[in-house]
Formats: sequence, C-alpha cells, structure tokens
Amino acid sequence: MGMAVECSGGGAPVTGSTCRMVLLALPLALLLAGIAGPLAAQRPAVLDDFPGITRCERGRAVSRIRADVRDSLVRAQLEAHEAVHRAQATAFPSCEAFMAGLTTARRIIDVELPAYCAQWRVAVAQGAEPVETRREFAWRIAAQSGAMENRLQVVQRFEQECQPPPGQGQAAVANDPTGAGH
Ligand SMILES: [Zn+2]
Repeated sequence: MGMAVECSGGGAPVTGSTCRMVLLALPLALLLAGIAGPLAAQRPAVLDDFPGITRCERGRAVSRIRADVRDSLVRAQLEAHEAVHRAQATAFPSCEAFMAGLTTARRIIDVELPAYCAQWRVAVAQGAEPVETRREFAWRIAAQSGAMENRLQVVQRFEQECQPPPGQGQAAVANDPTGAGH
C-alpha cells in the first residue's frame, strides 16, 4: 500500500470530491463488491489511491489507515499490510533509509510482495476468492511499482512466495469464509 503517501494532509478525514472518487475506484473496494478491478490497476498508482500508509515520523515507521475506510474487514487487511512495512523498516538503520531505498520497480515489488501477501492471507481468511484476489493484488503491486509490463511475473512470484496459512488450502478456504463479520 502507500509508502509515505496519503490522500489528505495529516490523516485528516477525506472530504474532497477527488478523494471520494478515487476511493470508489479502489480495486479493493471493487473486489469486495464482487467486481474485479483490472481497469483501475492498469494505470500507474497515484497518491490518492492509498487507504493505508506507512511513513517516517522522527525516524520511526508509523502507519495510518484512513478514517474513511470504515469496513472492519478491509481495515484488518490494511493493518496486516502496513505491519509488514513497519517490520521491513526496522531492518534498516532508520526509517528514512528504508524509504530512501525504494527507488526502483524491483525494490518496490520486493517490499510490496510480502505486504500484499499478508493482506492476501487476511482477505482469504475472510472468505475472499484466493486466485482472483492474488491476481488483483499482483496487478496492484505492478501498478504501484510503475511496471505494469511486469505484472505476469509479479503474479508468478506471488504464487511462489506467498502461501496460504497452514490448514487453509484453497479448496477449504472457499467453503470456509471464517472471519466474515459484516
Ligand atoms: Zn505497501
């Protein structure tokens, strides 16, 4: 998800019509509504796309989920995603050093894959369709890295590097939407 980006300043509630429109266009929102979001994923990611952000505050990685993201299932997914980025940042001398290294598509893909993997695991546990959701997330990673031409490789890496939690094979998951709590 967003690295050091946000829809409006300081985590304030989103009020602009642009932000609202972008929120409606979020692939995740479309996904949860049962509509695949490949159209949204085919343009480069822009700042307003990110409902969750992790950024540096006084040397520490701090995450925020936008206040207008009200779906608790989505919030749980975003929390899992941003928690991975916070952990990634701790492996560097400073949060700023971590962020400063995110300069290439390859590097962005490397940090987003595990974050989206964590998000995917939560989504699947909530009852999301595993294969479609994985492809959707892979395309978002590719868009976010600015390298949509790599999206099929990202899908392959996602399949190889991101396994369902133990005991949650894909067939079992499809019939066991645990965590669905609307
Ligand atoms: Zn991310």
